[in-house]
Amino acid sequence: MKKTIRNYRLKNKKVIIRVDFNVPIKDGIIQDDNRIKASLETIKYAINKGAKVILISHLGRVKTEEDKTDKSLKPVSEALSKLLNQKVIFIPFTRGKELENAINKMNNGDVLLMENTRFEDIDNKKESSNNPELGAYWASLGDIFINDAFATSHRSHASNVGIATHLKSGIGFLIEKELEVFNPILKRPKRPFIVILGGAKVSDKIGVIKNLVKKADYILIGGGMAYTFLKSEGYNIGNSLMDYDSIDFCTKILKKYENKIILPVDTVNGLEINENTSTNTCLITDIKEDEIGLDIGPKTIELFKKYIKDSKTVIWNGPVGYFEIDKFANGTKQLCEILKQSNAEVIIGGGDTGSAVNKFEYSDCYKHISTGGGASLELLEGRILPGISVINDKQ
Ligand code: AMP
Repeated sequence: MKKTIRNYRLKNKKVIIRVDFNVPIKDGIIQDDNRIKASLETIKYAINKGAKVILISHLGRVKTEEDKTDKSLKPVSEALSKLLNQKVIFIPFTRGKELENAINKMNNGDVLLMENTRFEDIDNKKESSNNPELGAYWASLGDIFINDAFATSHRSHASNVGIATHLKSGIGFLIEKELEVFNPILKRPKRPFIVILGGAKVSDKIGVIKNLVKKADYILIGGGMAYTFLKSEGYNIGNSLMDYDSIDFCTKILKKYENKIILPVDTVNGLEINENTSTNTCLITDIKEDEIGLDIGPKTIELFKKYIKDSKTVIWNGPVGYFEIDKFANGTKQLCEILKQSNAEVIIGGGDTGSAVNKFEYSDCYKHISTGGGASLELLEGRILPGISVINDKQ
């Protein structure tokens, strides 16, 4: 068990909290503030306990000086000030005297946000490659380190692993909640336990399939990845997404677990991937050469429903169709509804699946929507996340 923020006396202490403020910003306006809101519990707890709260986060990718112009965390500091109803001190640097002086002047309960950690990537990817000097420097600014950025905890960066190697550390409430959801399911799921996988490529999900095929009762497969499975079964998939490097894997896993892995029986196809293309719904035996399979069909939706109806636990990772285009969104939308109606504990694996659930306004309908697409995928693969494993254990 990892130490949490609750295991430390925070009063008078400079507490560095790694948060995930990687929000979409357009023309200086935040498009979706969910990630900021998700970190409030930990930040408010630290304020109320009398800490000097030093927040650090990345925002997007920064490769050139030019990238810096629209990757500043300043708009986030303004939004956070409003949400906390208290001034957030924003320092437009990631190191140096101005940052150090501002920290030294902080009173208990103050909140300071440093500039985007990835500004350091311009200099030899210092943040993203976990440069030891940078991690040690950031650690020198505080007394305690709290990691609450689940979405980056599968990466070993200076702003998580680097700092944690030098300071007493714990996890925040957001990471604690993610682990409280995923750990019991991965150890002892309530059965029947169903995994729904979709999204584009089989190769991205091989690790998850390998790890969960033994634990789950059924794996339902939709989305672009389903067509490579169908191809490996000998079906003609026309111009559908095809992941040639994964075909051997599909053949072998289907042979070994043919009763566990459930593939689509029908499909909605287009001639092109756009709103104006004509569509054709057909059985998987009837896909034409010039067609692209872009959604699961009504018979597959019914088939998936039968499995979901009796299940007690469902983990869903990857949209089952090209949901960004209305004509191919039906399967994903119907699945949202079926899961809402079911009695199962439903866990949504973040990333694109989370976006789909939000888009169709089902975000309040499930037990948990993960805040980290990549991180939750790695948890489902049974991997250890470096940003969490580095945190101090409870004695
Ligand atoms: P992933 O990041 O692997 O979960 O992939 C998510 C993306 O897969 C979404 O943008 C979907 O539009 C896309 N997707 C889902 N179904 C299909 C499909 N049948 N063909 C192509 N792309 C798809």
